[in-house]
Amino acid sequence: MAGSSKGLTKSRRARKCAGCGAERSKGEMLRVVRSIDGAVSIDASGRAQGRGAYICRSAECLDRALKKNAFARVLKHAVDRSFYGEVAKFLGESDDE
Ligand SMILES: [Zn+2]
Repeated sequence: MAGSSKGLTKSRRARKCAGCGAERSKGEMLRVVRSIDGAVSIDASGRAQGRGAYICRSAECLDRALKKNAFARVLKHAVDRSFYGEVAKFLGESDDE
């Protein structure tokens, strides 16, 4: 099957949560990024270069992601458990605007 996925437009800019798998718009999610040098970090701007993973801004999704080490899977790179702690802290701090 030589099916082409070119030009496939999904609901615009939908991103899949690494925790629950739900698709939401980019703005509703937190992006984490693996830069070319292999460093994994929180991408608060959502615009950093590198391979990105998305997660709902929810402790529950983060917990799910931690249990299956979803960031490591999506980013195709080892992610330390402490990174999930950093994300939890980040989410806690940015909880109310
Ligand atoms: Zn989620």
